[in-house]
Amino acid sequence: MTQAALLARSSDYVTPPWGDLEQAPFINACVEIDTPLDPHALLFVLQKIEAKFGRDRAKELRWGPRTLDLDLIAYDDVSIQKPELTLPHPRLFERAFVLVPLAEISPDRAIGGRSVASALAGLSTDGIERLTDD
Ligand code: AMP
Repeated sequence: MTQAALLARSSDYVTPPWGDLEQAPFINACVEIDTPLDPHALLFVLQKIEAKFGRDRAKELRWGPRTLDLDLIAYDDVSIQKPELTLPHPRLFERAFVLVPLAEISPDRAIGGRSVASALAGLSTDGIERLTDD
């Protein structure tokens, strides 16, 4: 069974490390997919992909280095308020490193009543650089 069709993919962005720890920059990107999976099933698949890329949450510090971090930003207009899955993502509007790639593929998308582009306009994008192919 097809679990997802890729509808859009942003460029990759180098972004300054997040949190207090000294660590290498992150690479961030956003994708938009069409999937028959419900939000919980989709998150489960994302966590299996993280594990395949060597992610072991038991051994890492919060906001420290990680091999791969896949977050669900929004799912249609679904609202879920549970610790294991909060939608839209609770820190979405604080994070330019999410909004910059999201605005590239979906600037007019409204999430929780705010457009992505207008939310981004209120944040600093210092240090975020789009990676080019060359
Ligand atoms: P992190 O290590 O920062 O990716 O946090 C992952 C934890 O946040 C997991 O235990 C998830 O169950 C939970 N979580 C809650 N909402 C979301 C979301 N929208 N996307 C990804 N993980 C989420």
